Amino acid sequence: MEKHVVVIYPHPDDESFGAAGTIAKFRDQGVPVTYLCGTLGEMGRNMGNPTFANRETLPEIRKQELINACNVLDMELRMLGYRDKTLEYEDRNEVAQHIKGILEELEPSLVITHYPEHAVHPDHNALGAAAIEAVRLIDEEKRPTVWAQAITNTQLEDLGVPQIINDVRDNFDKKMEAILCHQSQANGVIRSWNQSDDLSNDLKEEAMKRLSIESFYIWKF
Ligand SMILES: [Zn+2]
Repeated sequence: MEKHVVVIYPHPDDESFGAAGTIAKFRDQGVPVTYLCGTLGEMGRNMGNPTFANRETLPEIRKQELINACNVLDMELRMLGYRDKTLEYEDRNEVAQHIKGILEELEPSLVITHYPEHAVHPDHNALGAAAIEAVRLIDEEKRPTVWAQAITNTQLEDLGVPQIINDVRDNFDKKMEAILCHQSQANGVIRSWNQSDDLSNDLKEEAMKRLSIESFYIWKF
């Protein structure tokens, strides 16, 4: 059983879409989980339909959505305080040192992050690389395991079959509840799945089809 799990992603909602079922499973086992969220996603283009946010209010709205999702998932939240869409320009070693300091305090047995170069978005790739570098800098005997999440369509060809494949249909209600906390994002994402207007009836079914498997590669140092 894990001692403490630390999840490291750049945006409010990455945790819910990507790993909420896995997080819920750890919490059911009584394992503490902490989310280190890189940014407030303040550069997001989605302001809602009808519009409910502007550039000034979006960070506060997304922060509150994130707090709500973390409450649903019953995990601790720490903000890393970086700016959205600029993580790739941050000094990777500085970010790694920042994260390493927090990991040394929390002493997790497992770190979950994005698989660098296989995570679609530049912020995902950059923070995943910095998180893995942070873990690499920790003495081998104290070093947590890393589960790296690839989200490209070509991950099977590029990386092979993931070692960790979590079917999260059992906790899907919780995952859906966490996703729907991110009101400013969820509608846009869900709408992009299907242009049809009465998707809402099958929303959970559609989400289940797309999001019920959470898979990770065990990072080899
Ligand atoms: Zn993201």
